[in-house]
Amino acid sequence: MPAPFARSVLTFSTALMHKNGALANGNQTNGHQHPDLAAFEDVDFSEAEMRDVVVIGTGPAGWTAALYTARADLNPLIFMGPEPGGQLTTTTDVENYPGFPEGLMGPEMMDRFQDQAERFGTESRYGTVTHVDFRERPFRLLIGGETPVYAQTAIISTGASARYLGLENEQRLIGKGVSACATCDGSFFRGETVAVVGGGDSAMEESTFLTKFAEKVYVLHRREELRASEIMQQRAFENDKIEFVWNTEVIDVLGESAVEGIEVINNETGETRVMGDVTGFFLAIGHTPNTGPFEGWVQMDETGYIQTEGASTYTDVPGVFACGDAQDSTYRQAVTAAGTGCKAAIDAERWLSEHGAAEAPRADANRQPVEAVTLTDRN
Ligand code: NAP
Repeated sequence: MPAPFARSVLTFSTALMHKNGALANGNQTNGHQHPDLAAFEDVDFSEAEMRDVVVIGTGPAGWTAALYTARADLNPLIFMGPEPGGQLTTTTDVENYPGFPEGLMGPEMMDRFQDQAERFGTESRYGTVTHVDFRERPFRLLIGGETPVYAQTAIISTGASARYLGLENEQRLIGKGVSACATCDGSFFRGETVAVVGGGDSAMEESTFLTKFAEKVYVLHRREELRASEIMQQRAFENDKIEFVWNTEVIDVLGESAVEGIEVINNETGETRVMGDVTGFFLAIGHTPNTGPFEGWVQMDETGYIQTEGASTYTDVPGVFACGDAQDSTYRQAVTAAGTGCKAAIDAERWLSEHGAAEAPRADANRQPVEAVTLTDRN
C-alpha cells in the first residue's frame, strides 16, 4: 500500500470533502472536516446501548477481531453488514487457507469463523452501520440509519465489493446474465458460452470455475499480459474451454431481458465487433473498499482504502481501528484479513486498557472535535 503518512491530515480531509461535495454542510474541526451529521439529529441517544468494542463487518477480519476481543473479555458486538460473511460467501473452494489441506468451501469457512467468535461471547447482530460520529468517545453509530449505539472503540472491517464497468446495459442486465460472481451464478450457464472480463487472479479463477458448466469461456483482457499469478495463468492456459481475447474492451452488453451478446473493441486496431454467442457476462476487474460511511472521518487513500499507521491497525482517529480489505489494497487474502483482524483486536484491547472507557456521553451540541493524529510508522 502506498504510505503517504507524512501528508497532513487536514489537507487530506479537505480534498476528501471536496470530492464528496460535503464541504458546505460539514463541521470544520481542528483535525477533520466532518460530513453532515444530519442523520443523527432526530435520533435519541439517551438510552443507547454502550459497548467497549463494536466490530463493523463480518468477513475473516471482522470475525477474527471479534474472536480475539471476546477472548479478552471485551464482550464485542459485531454488525453483520449487507453481505454477512463477506466475499468468501461467494467463493467455492478455498484452497490457500493454511491448516485446511483439503480446502474448504467459502461459506462453510465463514460459518466456522462465526461459530468460533460466538463461542467466546461475541454478540452478532444483523444490521449495517450507516453513519458514524467519531468526534469524541464514546463514538456514536447509527445502524440502518436509525438505531443508536455508543462504542468506546470501533474496529472497521467492512471489506471490499466487486467492481463493474459501469455500462448502462451492463447495469440493466445484472442478474439477467451479467454477474460479478461466477461461483454464485455459473451453474445457470450449462452448455452456454460466457465471457469473463479481467486479467487478474479472480479472472483466472472464475473462468476456470466456469468451464465446469459453460461450453466455452472467453477471457477478455484489455492488455496482452496478465496480472494473474503464474500458477493461476497456467491453469487457465491449459484449459481447452478457455479462449483468451487480448487488447479487448467491452463497450456494450446486448439483449433486452437476457444477455444476447456483447460488443467489444480491439484497443490496438480500433476494430469493433459483436460476440453474439455470449449469453453470460462476468466481471472480474477488482474491488472497491466498502468505506463510504467513514469518508471524512478517518484518513483514506485516493481510492477509499483506510490508511493505518505502520504495521498497526491504528487509524488517525484514536480508538478507531481498521483491518481486512477495507484497509488492505495489496494482499486481500482471507489469511491476511484474519491476521489484521487479530492485530486490530490486540490494538483495541491495549488501547482501551491504556485509555479506559470514556465518561458518560456529552449532549450532541457539546461534543468535542476529534484530535486526529498524524499517522507515523507505528510498530
Ligand atoms: P486485480 O488483481 O486488481 O485484477 C483486476 C484485473 O481487471 C486486471 O487485470 C485489470 O487490468 C482488469 N481491470 C480493472 N479495471 C478494468 C476495467 N475497467 N476494464 C477492463 N479491465 C479492467 O483484481 P483480482 O483479480 O480481483 O485480484 C485481487 C487480489 O486478490 C489479488 O491480490 C489477487 O492475487 C487475489 N486473489 C487471489 C486468488 C487466489 O489466490 N485464489 C483468487 C482471486 C484473487 P490490468 O491488468 O490492465 O490493470
